[in-house]
Parts: sequence; C-alpha cells; structure tokens
Amino acid sequence: MSRKLSGKRALVTGGSRGIGAAIAKRLAADGADVVITYAGNREAADDTVGAIEAEGVKGLALRADAADGAAVAAAVDRTAEALGGIDILVHNAGVFGGTAIEQEGFEEFRRVFAVNVDGVVSGTIAAVPHLADGGRVVIVGSVSGDVSMIPGMATYAASKSAVQGLARGWARDLAPRGILVNVIQPGPIDTDMNPSDGDMAKIMLPNIPLGRYGRAEEVAALASFLASDESSFITGTTIDIDGGATA
Ligand code: NDP
Repeated sequence: MSRKLSGKRALVTGGSRGIGAAIAKRLAADGADVVITYAGNREAADDTVGAIEAEGVKGLALRADAADGAAVAAAVDRTAEALGGIDILVHNAGVFGGTAIEQEGFEEFRRVFAVNVDGVVSGTIAAVPHLADGGRVVIVGSVSGDVSMIPGMATYAASKSAVQGLARGWARDLAPRGILVNVIQPGPIDTDMNPSDGDMAKIMLPNIPLGRYGRAEEVAALASFLASDESSFITGTTIDIDGGATA
C-alpha cells in the first residue's frame, strides 16, 4: 500500500533522541527513507535507525556535529549519495543554553548559535544542490523565537528568532523551484532537553492552557504534514505547537 511519503528521501538532523527521533520515525512510518545525524549518542541513533528500518524503508545514522560546517556538509553529501537525492530536510538538532545578560558570556552565545543557527545555515547551503524541485525544508525553531517566556532566555530565543528570518528569505529564494521552507515552533515538549518533571516545567506548566507538556510525536505529526503534498500552499511561515502557551 502506498504511504503519503513513499519514495521521498529525508534527512533529519539530531535524530537520535527527542523530537528529532520522533520526526525520523514518523517520516519513515509515512514511507520515506530517512537518514539521521547525531552528536555523540551512537546507541540512541542506532535505536532510531532500527525503528526506521522496521517500517520497511532505508535508514542510516551519521555522526555530524551541527556546529561543524564541514561535518554537516559531508553528512548532507553522504545522505544524497545513500538515498539518491534529498526531498525533505529537517533541521532539528539544537541545544538549550544562555543565561541572564548579567551572567552571560560571549562564548556561551556562540555555542548556542553555532548549533542552532550556523548548523541550519551550513546544512541548507550543502543541501540546496541536492534538493529535488518540490522539496521541503522544515526547521524546528521554538515559540521562544517570538516570546521570551522567562528571564535568561535571550540567547536561546535569539537563535530561534534567527531561523525565522532565514526561513522567510529561503522561502522566497527557493519558491521558483517549488521548495517550501517553514519553521515549526514547539512550546514545552517532554524530552531530555525539557523534561515535564524538571525545574523548568514548574515554571512553564501553569502557563500552558492545555495543562500538560506536548509529546515529541505531536510535533512529528506536524513535521510530517509540512513534509507532505498536503502543505502545498504553505511557505515562509512559522507554525506554533504549544498547547496554547503563547495564546
Ligand atoms: P534533546 O536534547 O532531547 O535531543 C537533541 C537531539 O539533537 C539529539 O538527537 C542530539 O544528539 C542532537 N544534537 C544535539 N546537539 C547536536 C549537535 N551539536 N549536532 C548534532 N546533533 C545534535 O532535544 P529536543 O528533542 O527537546 O529538541 C529538539 C529541537 O527542538 C531543538 O532544536 C530544540 O531547540 C527544539 N525545541 C525543543 C523544545 C522542548 O521543549 N523540548 C521546545 C522548543 C523547541 P545526541 O543524542 O547525539 O546528543
């Protein structure tokens, strides 16, 4: 039986754990071949590849630090070689960091931007020559790109605002080729980065109208929609998935 992403070739950065792993598994369940990158957690990456292959599609994990432009470019080229091209590029790899400006250091700012922004830029530059016409670029941003919910978020928030601007520009650049570029902006999602029983949750939960953290699989459902033909008139925008946290 044909699935909605059958024959599509996807690369998901940071696909070993959390939201990226859920997206990788969902794209595979929808019929796409999926390559993931990861930073260092080989075991988790292998688990994701096992789940991808269990869907009867190709899976591969490549170690590539998103902050290392050469490593990212090599992973993109390797993906295109392994799958015969790329239709769906999901920039998910990201780190949380930064602190209040009184304590912030420029090195921390650069660390966060190197992964959350430089990684998105180097990955897209490398992928564009391989991306099929009609392809998709999905960036996992954050509602922090629009709203600074608590003190100490400036660096992380700015990194997520930056990808909005990139997506808007790239949407115009790539529209002639039918390539759509959008940003998913999750609110609090239960992962290792932001566990629903962690200290951050105590502050965030009261501000979520639906009264709970989101699940990575809920973000993955939106990514699957944006990766599919059903999103054909959506480009250059941001879509929040936050249980109403920014309402
Ligand atoms: P996790 O920390 O749970 O997982 C991070 C994933 O990204 C892992 O697969 C990790 O690989 C990979 N990764 C981390 N750093 C790098 C790097 N330098 N190079 C390559 N891969 C890397 O995070 P989440 O799943 O929670 O977050 C995923 C994305 O969603 C991020 O962009 C984050 O900013 C965003 N987001 C998350 C929210 C949340 O509440 N959880 C809310 C809003 C946005 P490895 O396993 O090898 O370490």
